[in-house]
Amino acid sequence: MIEEANIDQEEGWYYTKLAQRCLDGLARNNIPGFYCPDSESACAKVLELIPPDVSVGFGDSVTLYQAGIIAGLEKRKNNLLLHPFYHNGIVYYPETRGEVVKKGKEILNADYYLTGANAITIDGKIVNTDGLGNRVAGIIFGPRRVVVVAGINKIVLDLGQALQRIKTVAAPLNAQRHHLKHGRSPTPCSTTGICIDCHSPSRICNYTVIVEHQPSQRIQVVLVGQRLGY
Ligand code: SF4
Repeated sequence: MIEEANIDQEEGWYYTKLAQRCLDGLARNNIPGFYCPDSESACAKVLELIPPDVSVGFGDSVTLYQAGIIAGLEKRKNNLLLHPFYHNGIVYYPETRGEVVKKGKEILNADYYLTGANAITIDGKIVNTDGLGNRVAGIIFGPRRVVVVAGINKIVLDLGQALQRIKTVAAPLNAQRHHLKHGRSPTPCSTTGICIDCHSPSRICNYTVIVEHQPSQRIQVVLVGQRLGY
């Protein structure tokens, strides 16, 4: 019997091809990368990339929660974990911006840095937008090593699509997350779903960083063959 409803095989084939093109692009930009078909294998890969006894800082990333990476590192208990919004199994959101800044500065001194990505172009450029800048700062400066984990939904054709993805998908969803889950004031996009290039005090897209290339192989990327994060 032909099973038309199940598209796992076609998707698996397509995601592998898409990820391979993206990994080739990243390699041309001196950014090593790995493809993992699912969250379980991605989590195992990240745990393998992070040696025991190093400190690990985190950028705020739904992908890292969804892929079980934070829980996996906590469980193995041999790294000092520095997360801006998570401690001992509890997610919390600091009341003041000052607290986030303080923690963010501490995290820049970590040995390793783990984060997600808003978009990765097929020719290997990593694009991230931040409200405060702590996450993009950690990616380009500070920790000795950086591991970026990204679901297949983050791969885009070019920088134009990357920036469009941030304004039409990532930012509205993330603003809504902060509003619903962390009590932050709404933004226009978290109310209507549409970006109006606002001047809201809660604006979450203030700083955009594009990693085009790197001089050493400090940043590594783990691409996951499933949808993760925003
Ligand atoms: S600029 Fe404002 S409205 Fe547009 S995506 Fe960012 S937070 Fe939302």
